[in-house]
Amino acid sequence: MNESENLSFHKSFTQQEPIPEEGIAAAVTVMQSGRLHRYNTVENEPSETDLLESEFAEYLGVNYALACASGGYAIQIALRSAGVDVGDHVFCNAYTLAPVPGAIHNLGAVPLFIDTNDEYTIDCEHLEQEARKGRAQYLLLSHMRGHLVDMDRLTAICTAHNITVIEDCAHTMGANWNGKKSGTWGKVGCFSCQTYKHINSGEGGFLVSDDEQLMARAVVYSGSYMLYGKHRAAPDDSAFDAVKYTTPNFSGRMDNLRAAILRPQLNQLEKQCARWNCLYEALERELRGQNGIYLPERSAKENFVGSSLQFSLPQLNAADIESFVAQCSARGVELKWFGREEPQGYTSRMDSWRYLQDIPELPNTQRVLAHMLDIRLPLTFDDSDCAILAAIIKDVLQTMR
Ligand SMILES: *Cc1c(COP(=O)(O)O)cnc(C)c1O
Repeated sequence: MNESENLSFHKSFTQQEPIPEEGIAAAVTVMQSGRLHRYNTVENEPSETDLLESEFAEYLGVNYALACASGGYAIQIALRSAGVDVGDHVFCNAYTLAPVPGAIHNLGAVPLFIDTNDEYTIDCEHLEQEARKGRAQYLLLSHMRGHLVDMDRLTAICTAHNITVIEDCAHTMGANWNGKKSGTWGKVGCFSCQTYKHINSGEGGFLVSDDEQLMARAVVYSGSYMLYGKHRAAPDDSAFDAVKYTTPNFSGRMDNLRAAILRPQLNQLEKQCARWNCLYEALERELRGQNGIYLPERSAKENFVGSSLQFSLPQLNAADIESFVAQCSARGVELKWFGREEPQGYTSRMDSWRYLQDIPELPNTQRVLAHMLDIRLPLTFDDSDCAILAAIIKDVLQTMR
């Protein structure tokens, strides 16, 4: 008999921490003022949204930041602002989340999926092959589940082939590659502040860039009307002269209520990232080296945020993995399995996006997703929770042999 056999886990994998008191107080002040719209300011007073954008730009060390209604919206506006047009092809990860191909499709552009490697990141060799064929001028790069590809290598490939990089940093807010923050590598970086990401306003997103013209277009797209002059983290008014009559309004602004909630969270982001990494290390330590469990080696240059952990069970077939996930679930451990034939809750497999034509066969992506499992590590967990999670995972794996 194994002593961990009766162990089960009782916390929710989707329970985030409360909004900091300071954010709640700021939100109440916004509500008392009645001025929730970002442009509804008294004289030249900056709004919470303006301040949040300035603080986010400063945090990342970029010139400009724009807060918007969601991460998916930020991606869509970023693609448009970077120049993607109807019918254009856009490279993107084959392993990503539904809003990524969705944003490309929304523009009337066409995603070209790039394969996945055993590190769970985009396959640079495949990217280079496709780039050589000149199949696309843009790459929408998702740092899926916080895994950063070798950004030096990726940047070299894209520079050599004149490919504009748009980063999807939904899982890498607070991360960096070799000291350079995620979101500052591409021409434009996109972030989400939806509840399950690293700062939480329910819904929300950002795009950031150092490019003046790109940012002027993004601000007008986001629904600035002729009030772009109120933005503090946007280019000077003169940059808008060239775009203000030719850029449509695709209304998707952030409001002051959300911004008020986010500002104190941004202040605490570094501290929170360190807490996520403690949880990640506590779990990783237990799982790495276990017979039957594969965890990719991560580069010393990859300073990721461990808000979730991925591992593979390369020796198990689909039926076994299904049973593994079910047994873990019965003991309170919720694992996402990206390889599931019928998607549950979300889609991350190319063949789930049947509105697209020509979904390619990418055997590596299919193999990686068929064996990969994902576990969330919300900050409402602690070290002792990670020990229980690891014990249950190992215990269930034992029964599979
Ligand atoms: C969450 C997410 C998005 C989109 O963010 P929303 O704010 O939900 O629109 C984009 N890409 C990835 C990889 C995500 O996980």
